[in-house]
Amino acid sequence: MTTPHFIAAAGLVKIFRVADLEVVALQGLDIECERGEILALVGPSGSGKSTLLNALGGLDRPSAGRLEVDGKNLLKLNQFELTTYRREMIGFVWQQTARNLLPYLTARENIELLMTLAGQGGKQKRQWADELLDAVGMREHANQRPTQLSGGQQQRIAIACGLANRPQILLGDEPTGEVDWPTAQMILKLLRDLRDRFGLTIVLVTHDPRVAAWADRTVAIRDGRTSTETMRVDDDQPQPMASGEAAPAEQPPTFEELVVLDSAGRLQIPSEQRVLAGIGRRAKVELVAGGILIRPSDDERPTIPLNEPSAGPNHSSLYSSEPLPGSGEQPPKRKLPWNHRT
Ligand code: ADP
Ligand code: MG
Repeated sequence: MTTPHFIAAAGLVKIFRVADLEVVALQGLDIECERGEILALVGPSGSGKSTLLNALGGLDRPSAGRLEVDGKNLLKLNQFELTTYRREMIGFVWQQTARNLLPYLTARENIELLMTLAGQGGKQKRQWADELLDAVGMREHANQRPTQLSGGQQQRIAIACGLANRPQILLGDEPTGEVDWPTAQMILKLLRDLRDRFGLTIVLVTHDPRVAAWADRTVAIRDGRTSTETMRVDDDQPQPMASGEAAPAEQPPTFEELVVLDSAGRLQIPSEQRVLAGIGRRAKVELVAGGILIRPSDDERPTIPLNEPSAGPNHSSLYSSEPLPGSGEQPPKRKLPWNHRT
């Protein structure tokens, strides 16, 4: 069955078997991504982000479910077809530059090696390498080795390497995880430029909410399932920031965080939020004016009154225990899936 989405996962399951143990890394995950979109995947460590990224990249096979990219269900491809898919469609950028670049080759040689492996040669190869070096602003550093470059410059070359095979999808697992924030902003701006220039679809895994704020959409994953989606609600694009500049404090973007329901109508309430609301195994669900109210059942007394404004640390988001995206000083406004009753 084909879907109109460029990337669509439904009920995706991944079970790792280690000795006698089974680890369920993806527990029926649903996600969609449109062509040309920049999607950020966030979530606690061990929630299944890398597993999803590896499945998308054709590096690993999900155990069950559906994972379609451009109308092809990756679970139905044989090993040869999956390798072809990866070679033709996917570019990777990893957190560790050591995984991206060979230290004894120059920047250009690193890019050209990957082009050779992708079956390109001759003049065409040279031209595409030049175009990529220009696109990432590294033409004048083409003949330097990684050790002669800064961390940010190395990641620029790594991104060019990720594009060597002319992929449609660029996957990044914490691509800004090892650089400082000004450098990270430069890389994120570059990714947006490259998306516009080459029509890429970009999926980034990050634990940094500031990185997620650069994406068009952020999907939070918890326990191998999609938990919430955060979208920009103002029509402003993220303000491109020059390297070294702090984020502008005056007009933080507004985000709206929405809880995601699966195809059967199930939604996930994270355990810390259930504790805060005093909800145990059972809850009352009532249709009220303007929505649906979920309350503790009568035999499960709330430990914290629902109308007490700030219980514990900053629970400004019911679905996120992480700080909100934006600059450190002034967090952006955020609309929540639902608010404490007042
Ligand atoms: P994240 O990237 O969100 O930190 P992962 O996708 O790496 O999470 O891991 C999800 C779960 O699957 C974790 O419990 C992890 O220990 C387990 N896992 C990941 N890869 C493997 C593997 N190759 N073998 C066994 N278990 C794995
Ligand atoms: Mg990971």
